[in-house]
Amino acid sequence: MYWIIFGVFALLSWLVSSSLERKFKKYSQESLPLTGAQVAEKMLRENGITDVKVTCTPGHLTDHYNPATRTVNLSESVYSSANVAAAAVAAHECGHAVQHERAYAPLQLRSALVPVVNFSNRWMMWVLLAGFLFIETFPQLLWVGIGLYAMTTLFAFVTLPVEVDASRRAVDWLQEAGITDNHTTQMASEALHSAAYTYVVAALASLATLVYYILIALGGSRR
Ligand SMILES: [Zn+2]
Repeated sequence: MYWIIFGVFALLSWLVSSSLERKFKKYSQESLPLTGAQVAEKMLRENGITDVKVTCTPGHLTDHYNPATRTVNLSESVYSSANVAAAAVAAHECGHAVQHERAYAPLQLRSALVPVVNFSNRWMMWVLLAGFLFIETFPQLLWVGIGLYAMTTLFAFVTLPVEVDASRRAVDWLQEAGITDNHTTQMASEALHSAAYTYVVAALASLATLVYYILIALGGSRR
């Protein structure tokens, strides 16, 4: 049973990431006048954000907004290339900076969950393992492990509106600012949509695993 769930989600995430890879490659061929870094600077400025820095970070797909240091970190290729894919990613990360600035509630909830999730990540595998081993003698332990795992599932679901909203802000602004026309706006939107599916698959996989653990715990305690 576990292997079927695992196999289905492994296949799904492979499909999603290869389609994402293809779309980004395709939309990287579509030139724009501004580099990712210039797009980010302009979007922050036009949203009245002056205290967030745009920096270049090594690696591929390492782009992220860091609320603690107030930096939009763009990967090397996004930072210095001038194409639709780079602009979409740069604007998406600035979308997170705008969410932070405007105290967007799902982002605040997500940030509040970070320490909880770090704690869960550190302990859940050990507690779950011990819970499975002592399911007959000490079934409560498995429920503690499930509780810890549930925090990471919750986190994966809270991430979804945050990601979708950042992409919506990105695409709207790219069009409004005249960085993209109707045709290239559509491309930017498509690229960001396929990136969002990664988070959807991750959240569903986490939920399926959680349900699976719960079924085992229920079965174990009935014995
Ligand atoms: Zn994001």
